[in-house]
Amino acid sequence: MVKDFDVLVAGAGPAGSAAARVLAGRGLRVGLIDRLAHPRFKLCGGLLTAKSMDALDRVFGLGEADLAARGGLFHATPEYVFLHQGRELLRGAAAEPFRFVERPVLDALLAQEAVAHGAEPLFGRVVAACDAAAGEVLLADGERLRAGFVIGADGVNSATRRALGRGDAARRAWRENLAAAIEVELPVGQGPGCFPRQVRAPELHVGGPCVPSAGYGWVFPGPRGAKAGICGLRRRGEDFGALFRDYLRLLGVAGAEQIPLRGHPLPYGNALARPCSGRLVLAGDAGGFVEPLFGEGIFYALATGAHAATAVLRAITRGADAADEYDALLARSVRPELVWSDRLRWLLFAAMRRFGPAPIKGFVRCAPDALAQMVHGGRSFRLLLPKRWAWGAELGPCAPLG
Ligand SMILES: Cc1cc2nc3c(=O)[nH]c(=O)nc-3n(C[C@H](O)[C@H](O)[C@H](O)COP(=O)(O)OP(=O)(O)OC[C@H]3O[C@@H](n4cnc5c(N)ncnc54)[C@H](O)[C@@H]3O)c2cc1C
Repeated sequence: MVKDFDVLVAGAGPAGSAAARVLAGRGLRVGLIDRLAHPRFKLCGGLLTAKSMDALDRVFGLGEADLAARGGLFHATPEYVFLHQGRELLRGAAAEPFRFVERPVLDALLAQEAVAHGAEPLFGRVVAACDAAAGEVLLADGERLRAGFVIGADGVNSATRRALGRGDAARRAWRENLAAAIEVELPVGQGPGCFPRQVRAPELHVGGPCVPSAGYGWVFPGPRGAKAGICGLRRRGEDFGALFRDYLRLLGVAGAEQIPLRGHPLPYGNALARPCSGRLVLAGDAGGFVEPLFGEGIFYALATGAHAATAVLRAITRGADAADEYDALLARSVRPELVWSDRLRWLLFAAMRRFGPAPIKGFVRCAPDALAQMVHGGRSFRLLLPKRWAWGAELGPCAPLG
């Protein structure tokens, strides 16, 4: 027996839950698969920009007050700090606050919303393979599921992405643009394994021997202390764990060598040019949709999840080509930002390697308000022009199609 759905969504992170919420809200039969049951751990700084808040409101109808009331937000501040080799370059305050969430809480909440609107939860089930032409998903327990469309939102190590059937060169390009990331949360205190000071504002560290040359370090407020992390493209033979421990020492953390480390890959400049094949559409980390300068992924997961759902909805209701619809939505919203932030990243990293802190100092000090708006989404990575995000008419109130 093969179980049938209109749409199967693989992965119930922000991308998958956004897609499932939109489609189930339109009355489609949606199966939402995840190998884990919520709440599940996800390594993440948990920083939400203003555009992420807007996306949560548009897709899930969850505003700041709802998120706070349901435990999804634990801190907000407009302040931020830029550092180079441990030295402060800029301390600023954005017009909008940066919000911080606990990912297990947020992700559980988003999955609950998708299920509350009619998606069938298939949690604790592992996707083993996907047949993009047939719209079939094979689960690790042997069950086969079928759907008109499959949305692959199963994260950076996506099993569904394998069904794109790309060649060796494309696979090599994907690996080369995959960043390594390590993050730990430490209690605040003076002993070994503690973070030596309270952290109220996000800090971004660039440059120096203990931060990846094509990457950065961060210190964020955490729900139980401070979160410190690094992410970046790996150089051959580089011991990323040793680099991270040096970074902790730079931050004044004692006993860094004893701290257990957790790492996770992060797409870092590898958004797929054609994230579709047959009945399969990829969203979020599975499609490489992470902004490659700051590594912001939650917004891009929500946006591409919603766009994938809109494209599939248009294919089902109007007979449109899902891949073309998805491409058009991406081209009008996230794609230009990913392209321009990638350019900016290489320019800044190359300038920093050549001239030291001067270019980055000039960059962050030239127009701090406009740069903060760029991060929050009010301005584009393209020359800081004002940015309006295209969502597609379907993303009004998610009412049933009737
Ligand atoms: C260290 C670190 C810090 C970060 N900090 C930030 C930050 O502060 N702000 C920000 O915006 N972004 C941040 N990001 C990026 C962000 O976490 C990701 O881009 C985002 O989680 C992507 O969402 P997603 O839904 O695509 O994938 P995920 O959140 O990874 O969800 C994928 C889901 O698929 C499931 N899954 C995986 N494989 C299978 C399978 N075979 N079968 C069934 N289910 C499967 C997983 O269990 C998971 O629930 C950070 C990333 C890292 C690594």
